[in-house]
Amino acid sequence: MYKKWIKQILSLNSNVADSAVYTLSGLLPIEAEIHVKAINLFGNISRAKCDSIEWRLAERQLQIKPHNSRSWFIEVKELCLKYEINDLYAYLNNPLSKFQWKKLVKSKIHDYWTSKIIDESKGYSTLKFMDHKYNIGSVHPLAISVSANLKDIRKIPVRLKISTGNYILQTHKASFSKNHISPTCKLCSKADETVEHFILLCEKLEEARIPLLSKILDNGSLILAKVTTSFPIDLIQLIINPFCYVDINANRTVFEETSNILEPLCRQLLYNLHNKRYALLANIDKQGSRKSNF
Ligand SMILES: [Zn+2]
Repeated sequence: MYKKWIKQILSLNSNVADSAVYTLSGLLPIEAEIHVKAINLFGNISRAKCDSIEWRLAERQLQIKPHNSRSWFIEVKELCLKYEINDLYAYLNNPLSKFQWKKLVKSKIHDYWTSKIIDESKGYSTLKFMDHKYNIGSVHPLAISVSANLKDIRKIPVRLKISTGNYILQTHKASFSKNHISPTCKLCSKADETVEHFILLCEKLEEARIPLLSKILDNGSLILAKVTTSFPIDLIQLIINPFCYVDINANRTVFEETSNILEPLCRQLLYNLHNKRYALLANIDKQGSRKSNF
């Protein structure tokens, strides 16, 4: 339900990979949020007076209950082991301050989920254009509009669908249908409609593409000349997710220029291509139905 809700906010299809949802939204999975609460509650108990019922219960259960017991304290102990917070019994006898405990819990849980979600994200071929950066608490710059203008905000869903491999082209339809549907581009009929064909090559989209593409090339080369990347810059990757080449911690200026200049151009290009393709397809469908009426 929680995942479905975030997907709706980000206008993503329900079948998009969960790891994409978390990297884009910067939210923690609900499971992790529940773990934070449970482990913090244990922290409260550890700081309670030694003669309080909760503290005494914790002490007894942590000492004697086996791993498979259904005691709440044992469940929390198992949870903590998962996050490499070991020896709860020691914390019970030498409790950390509220601040230290919360800080420890947050860093352990964030570390665990960051590496888990990044690993999962790398495993999806549909997410090959994502940069596999997961910053808990920060929305991914691909999902942020630098202006509050509704016209700009409207361009985000198409951009996110393309970046997460969720924008359906003829080649996707062909593979879903086990090639009952042709992968050939319906607009030009000259090649398979892959994401490269759609964004860079289809001649029917040339008009929507040329002006913005040259701006992207000009600005992109200026901005990215300021960073050293160990790998060559790939145009399709740059358009689908320019943040792949930019690290906010390494160079703040380049990151801001990418967000304020390059990303809006890429987003505009994808939006224009999408609208043009959509209009042409609607026309083709209309002609098709007219023919079949004869
Ligand atoms: Zn084409």
